[in-house]
Amino acid sequence: MSMRGNTYPALVLNADFQPLNYFPLSLWSWQDALKAVFLDRVNMVSEYDRQVHSPSHAVNLPSVISLKKYVPQARRPAFTRFNVFLRDRFCCQYCGGVYRAEDLTFDHVIPRSKGGMTTWTNVVTACAPCNLRKGNRLPRQSGIQPLRTPMQPTTFQLQQSGRAFPPGYLHEGWGDFLYWDAELES
Ligand SMILES: [Zn+2]
Repeated sequence: MSMRGNTYPALVLNADFQPLNYFPLSLWSWQDALKAVFLDRVNMVSEYDRQVHSPSHAVNLPSVISLKKYVPQARRPAFTRFNVFLRDRFCCQYCGGVYRAEDLTFDHVIPRSKGGMTTWTNVVTACAPCNLRKGNRLPRQSGIQPLRTPMQPTTFQLQQSGRAFPPGYLHEGWGDFLYWDAELES
């Protein structure tokens, strides 16, 4: 068998047939997916034409699998840079422009130097020019207000945001998942 693990990935659905995760999209290697099928932990929802052969039989590689046991989704999503962008749908909350993740930064509505906290309710997605333009001023000093009042999203809301983007749309530019998914310090 010469196929690498990252070809023929299987999309993993929760028991309710929603993707287990949108960003990053829940994908398992065909090896892990097949193993889970054999261990009876997942249902095979659909399969690739490609087969693998064992000495005794042939089996199609799963393209979509669903978990047999429902995995509860965290009610409060992690406060990460990436989830802030996802909440704001990659839209600068000052100029309304939509950017790629690597062209965005996050901005403290009340600047840290003025006591602003790094929290869901004080951090918004901003493009670099807007971030610079606003600088260390309070919204009432700069006259620059976020388009939407920043709020703590639910996991459901983030998933709804995630659906607005086709799979793979943002993966190119990420490069480093760990960076984007690193929990922000408050
Ligand atoms: Zn902007």
